[in-house]
Amino acid sequence: MNLPQPGDYIDIHNHDSRPEEGVFILDNLMAHEETLPGNEKGMIHSLGIHPWFLNETNHDVLIDFVRQNVSDISIAAIGEAGFDKLKGPAMDLQNRTFAEQVAISEETGKPLVIHCVKAWDELMAAHKRVNPQMPWLIHGFRGKKELAMQLISRNMYISFWFDFIVRPEATMLVRSLPVNRIFLETDGSGADIREIYRTVADDLGISVDSLRDQIRSNFEGLLLL
Ligand SMILES: [Zn+2]
Repeated sequence: MNLPQPGDYIDIHNHDSRPEEGVFILDNLMAHEETLPGNEKGMIHSLGIHPWFLNETNHDVLIDFVRQNVSDISIAAIGEAGFDKLKGPAMDLQNRTFAEQVAISEETGKPLVIHCVKAWDELMAAHKRVNPQMPWLIHGFRGKKELAMQLISRNMYISFWFDFIVRPEATMLVRSLPVNRIFLETDGSGADIREIYRTVADDLGISVDSLRDQIRSNFEGLLLL
């Protein structure tokens, strides 16, 4: 599997990525797109069913697609999977499909990348029920400190929403969380991951170099390397 090199900026969640010098990307493949994983330099992939694109009709096809491709060497994680109460099918189907992807994550020993909108109770309940061996990573986080700490207390990792984390009001949040539990991402926005690192390093009062080292160490924790 491709791994980040010392000094790389790790972008822990992106879509439709292209290799970029000095950046290491966990690129997300959504099963409904039926894109097969490549083995591009500086990139690995997650593969899963995004709740927005799930329905009763396509469920079986999507879960089969994940199962058939999950063993590919370039698939490092399962997801993004999860819950969305604003956009997506009935919670019953979302719950069932999430549980299936949790099982795949546990069976394959690959961590789970999570999309969660207004369904934190469901997410916490699922985590308590399964008590998974594999780490879960919440991507696109823009909640409060209390919620972040609740997730971290269950051994989850947090990646911040690219647009939220560079705002002045995010400074206190990022300072109050354990730095060994955080990640940064661009999520297909075209934002510059280097800029995001610069802002967060400033917020933390550390150098960009130390932040990159820290996040590479977090990455090793996430993938149980
Ligand atoms: Zn995404």
